[in-house]
Amino acid sequence: MSETRLRFPPSPTGYLHIGGARTALYNWLYAKQTGGKLILRIEDTDTERSTDESIRGIIEGLEWLGIDFDEGPYFQTDFEADHCAAAQKLLESGAVYKCFCTKEELEAKREAAIAAKNPNIGYDGTCRHLTAEQVAEKEAAGIPSVLRFKVPESEGQVSYDDLIMGRIAASYSEIEDFVIVRSNGKPLYLLCNVVDDIRDRITHVVRGQDHMTNTLKQVMLYEALGAPLPRFGHMPLTLDNKKAKISKRSHGEIVAVQFYKEHGFIPWALNNFLALLGWSAGDDKEYYSKEDLIKAFSFDRINRSSAVFNFRKNDPRFFTDPKAISMNEHYLRTMPIEEIGELVRRDFEAENLWKEEYAGDRKEWYLKTLDLIRERFHTLKDFASLGRAYFADDYTVEEKPLKKNILKNEGLKEWFPQLASRYEALSPEEWTIEKTEEIAKAYAEELGVKPGIIINGMRTVVTGQAAGPSLFDILMLIGQQKVIQRLRKIDSFYA
Ligand code: GLU
Repeated sequence: MSETRLRFPPSPTGYLHIGGARTALYNWLYAKQTGGKLILRIEDTDTERSTDESIRGIIEGLEWLGIDFDEGPYFQTDFEADHCAAAQKLLESGAVYKCFCTKEELEAKREAAIAAKNPNIGYDGTCRHLTAEQVAEKEAAGIPSVLRFKVPESEGQVSYDDLIMGRIAASYSEIEDFVIVRSNGKPLYLLCNVVDDIRDRITHVVRGQDHMTNTLKQVMLYEALGAPLPRFGHMPLTLDNKKAKISKRSHGEIVAVQFYKEHGFIPWALNNFLALLGWSAGDDKEYYSKEDLIKAFSFDRINRSSAVFNFRKNDPRFFTDPKAISMNEHYLRTMPIEEIGELVRRDFEAENLWKEEYAGDRKEWYLKTLDLIRERFHTLKDFASLGRAYFADDYTVEEKPLKKNILKNEGLKEWFPQLASRYEALSPEEWTIEKTEEIAKAYAEELGVKPGIIINGMRTVVTGQAAGPSLFDILMLIGQQKVIQRLRKIDSFYA
């Protein structure tokens, strides 16, 4: 087989949508699997709606996901000459014709057809049979024209084998003579897209199901341009659990890839989630490494019915599809800690928590701490927020444990400074899990209070949190001096 060439051609009229990202991912997976190429083409011919900001956002989003390209970005507007040349070629070969019907005429005909309950409300072919003289006459009179494609008038069908949807066919009679060039001379998207795919030698066109109606027309354009057909594949749309198309207007930021970047997602976790949104290898495997997914992916196992994105409005525990969150948690807990260290660094820098020594002398401590605290976290953001006490002194103590573990036990005001002194008496070698635990428990016994009172109070004071890893593991990481300081500050809570 010759080299596979796939493409991702977003229209830069908004943010990178998770549905778009899934399309990019599937194309990328197949290109990687087959040792082929993936091309990024920005379809910016709608100059009124295309923005630089959107182009930047799309490219950044793909970069963040790790979906890399072998060629591009190409910009569709740079190839206008190709689009016009193709239109000219079609005109010369007689595959298209000039249509002089005005908007008003077309609208009146359409309304009449609807009123007469005529199922054929498409273009009626008025200009298809104009003679050369008639065309010349209209042009001489300065009447503007569009170019329409001559859909065969014969009985047959246009068809192709869809990689995902199977055989797709429609009778010619169901397709009207469609426009490929506007009256202002601008080729329509339908044509530009085909011309670019031919020039870029695309072998597989894999895109959303919403393009399926275009595809039958495009198949005819390929034939008329004498170009071989690529394989087409149309992916079912992504709907919410109420079967509505997911959109920023109704679902908010969660449909944008940027949201996941900002909310502490691990890029591969989102890819893994998107891969399974409408595709499975036929077993119940959930977690795929990049290499495994590239190997396992296939178009014919994409579900033909819509993918469901579980959206729960106003439920902060599930700020996005719970499956996506649990996917993120999985990677957060199992990824090599060095990689987590890299990913977290950006947030640490933004939150004034980053110290250069975490990449140098204290790297081991930094990674060990991340490793200890990651167990209960959901996103990368949690390290700088819930984990702040490990890295800085300006952490906040959560209200619930503050009330329950500190304010309710006034005795701690006296006990903690004493405990601090006992800890202070330990040499650095004696500062061990066993020793610190033994001292805390013996002290509780001496006082005649439950060890939990001392332990929970200490956890709250030292980390600001109600729960977390084993307290004495925590003490080791926070270090003797800081633990002592924090215990001695206990009375500030009662002020
Ligand atoms: N520019 C089109 C879109 O963003 C892509 C169409 C295609 O993949 O052919 O929907």
